[in-house]
Parts: sequence; structure tokens; C-alpha cells
Amino acid sequence: MVKLSNAPSGRHFLQIPGPTNVPDRILRAIDNPTIDHRGPEFGVLGRKVLTEIKPIFGTKSDVVIYPASGTGAWEAALVNTLSPGDRVLMFETGHFATLWRELAERVGLTVDFVPGDWRQGVDPKQVEARLSEDKVHAIKAVMVVHNETSTGVATRVGEVRKAIDAAKHPALFMVDTISSLASIDYRHDEWGVDVTVAGSQKGLMLPPGLSFNAISAKALAAHKTSKSQRSYWDWSTMLAANKTGYFPYTPATNLLYGLAEAIDMLMEEGMANVFARHDRHAEATRRAVRTWGLEILCVNPAEYSSSLTAVLMPTGHNADEFRKKTLAAYDLSLGAGLTKVAGKVFRIGHLGSFNDLMLMGTLAGVEMGLAIAGVPHTEGGAQAAMNYLSGVAKAEAPKRSVA
Ligand SMILES: *Cc1c(COP(=O)(O)O)cnc(C)c1O
Repeated sequence: MVKLSNAPSGRHFLQIPGPTNVPDRILRAIDNPTIDHRGPEFGVLGRKVLTEIKPIFGTKSDVVIYPASGTGAWEAALVNTLSPGDRVLMFETGHFATLWRELAERVGLTVDFVPGDWRQGVDPKQVEARLSEDKVHAIKAVMVVHNETSTGVATRVGEVRKAIDAAKHPALFMVDTISSLASIDYRHDEWGVDVTVAGSQKGLMLPPGLSFNAISAKALAAHKTSKSQRSYWDWSTMLAANKTGYFPYTPATNLLYGLAEAIDMLMEEGMANVFARHDRHAEATRRAVRTWGLEILCVNPAEYSSSLTAVLMPTGHNADEFRKKTLAAYDLSLGAGLTKVAGKVFRIGHLGSFNDLMLMGTLAGVEMGLAIAGVPHTEGGAQAAMNYLSGVAKAEAPKRSVA
């Protein structure tokens, strides 16, 4: 550990949009002796997580778990289903869509990249138009990022599915849900997604180090004919071992203890309640931002992200200077603007293990940070969020539905 000269007291506020706060229950679950990953005890754990993770993706199909960051699962999705030279359709919704595109090109795919202004999600009409033009079905996959973590914009995945169907196009549909899974409503089966990519360190409340592919029957069929070079990521090897709860190589055993606990926590709360909680915290945050007189990067209310809110800095003020002062003064980490919006945007993460008072601590920290950094704003954003949170709490009894 780096020794801090000014060690802060109390808990750090990790309000970047991933990695997120790891709850004590998960930390305690991880803090257990590592077991033999070929022994009988491991099989029980493996079967539990491989089965119980499925409803979180909204699928009855197989989900594979890699000991890798989300980027690994991005690559796995492509090299398991496509062949070098294949054309794919992608959309520049922000930094993460751009990185996935670069990865796709490195593994030999040809990407039709539809430019975007980083303030909107994928336009279903554009998907339909692009696919309708492709009479010979040269496009083998449509790849979208559900929640653009760099912009706080959520693409309407169900509508993109409808657009693919309206164009009567057979392309595979792949969705990155790394910062939306277990935070924003998501339905792999219902929305006809072929490969869903996810990671451990955001809505799933775990440390970084696990990532996922949920695989449709159509994706599995494409896998059989895909000619991409692959070894570590190979679904066939993985799925064969997974049948009995094991892995073809050493899994991240202790993170899987944490995953089992995370699944239990999500099921106890109920997925519908988890999504409602995220929606509510996002709305409270937006009310705070509007009261401050600052602008939300996402322009379309139908695409507001419930995982995070990206906020534009007033011109002449640097978001990174503001973040630096806020971190030093209040031990609050906020997300940076990435690449195209570096210095222009800061991001408030409100996903994962989170509650009303954690949000209020965060928003109070932002408001005090704006003050000490000399950023012009109107006071009372935190108060506006409190009014919303307390009003809703009075009007609505907590829901007990289990998804
Ligand atoms: C965090 C994130 C990634 C990258 O995941 P890593 O675990 O850092 O490899 C990709 N896509 C989205 C949408 C993300 O939020």
C-alpha cells in the first residue's frame, strides 16, 4: 500500500462508475481459504454460480465465466463466433464502443463504424436502415454497448432487436452490459441477444477480475463454423468443463465465492427492486445536477443511464481540476471524462452496492467540491435530491417483488 501522509478517516467514497463499492458480505465471502478447483467442494460452487447467474442475464442459455477483465469477454464474444474478414456493424456511442471497435479490428474484423456525438445511444432507425441496405447479408454481427459508461447514455436494446427483425437480417446481435448488468433492466433471451458481455466490478458489486459471455443457441451454432484463432477463450473447452461445474484452467476461486454471495444478495433484494433502486438514485442525481445549473451529457431522457450520470463542466472550468480538489478534500472519487470528453465531463457513479445516504454523501461531496473548486453553480442540488428521495419514500411502500 502507498503510505498516505494525510490518511483520511472513515470510508472512501468510490463513486466512479466501476469498479464499485464492494459490500462487506462479499468481502467476507472472498476472505476464505482457496480450495482445490478439481475437488468435490469446488464442483458445488461451480454448479451454483454457473446456474444461478443465468436469471441475472435473463437467460436460460449457458453463461461462461472467465478469470479476466471485461475486455477479455469482449474478445471472447468475437473470436468464438466470427471469422477474420467478417464485416460487423458498430456505433460510436462513446469511449467503450470505440475501444470494442479497435479490438474487433485487431482480431481481423472489418467494422462499419457509424459516427456519433457521444450524447446519444444507438438509433434503432439507423440500425434498420443499415441492415436493410445490406441485401447480401455481408454484415455478420451488430455490436452495441448497452450502457455507455463514458457518457451515461443507455441504448434501448429491445428496440435495436426490433430494428434487426424489421430489416429481416440474420446478423448476430452482441451487447456489452459491463456497466448495466444487475443495474439496468436487461433481458438476453427476450431481446434475442446472441452474446451478452459482462464484467464483475460494476453492477455485480465484485472486485475486478471476472467477466462473462451469455451465449444463445444461434451464437453457439456460429461458434461451430467460426475460423478465428482462439485458445484461452474457446467456448467449447469451457462449456465441456462447465457441465460438471469445473473449469478448463484454474478459475478465480475466491472471486467465485464473492459471485455466489453477490447472486444471493441480488436475489434477496429482487431484480425488479434492484433496477428500481438504480432508477431512483439516477433521478435524484439528475435533479441535483439540474439544480446546480449544470448540464447532463445525455440529451435524450429516454436514454438516461441509471448506472451513472455524466455532467458537463461550464466552459472555462476543467473537470479534472474539480475532481482532484474533491478527492483531496472529501476522499470522494468521481469518474473522469475519457478521451473526446477529457476535462470537459465528470461522472457520478450510482450503481452497485448503494443506498440513499451513500448517494447523499456523494452529492454533498460534489456540491462542496464545486464550491471549493470555484465552479459556478446554484446551491441546493443535494437538497433537491433529498426532497425527491424522502418524498418517494413516503409515497411508496418498499416493493417486495422477486424477479
Ligand atoms: C468498464 C467497461 C469496459 C471495460 O471493462 P474492463 O473490465 O476494464 O476490461 C467495457 N465496456 C463498458 C461498457 C465498461 O463500462
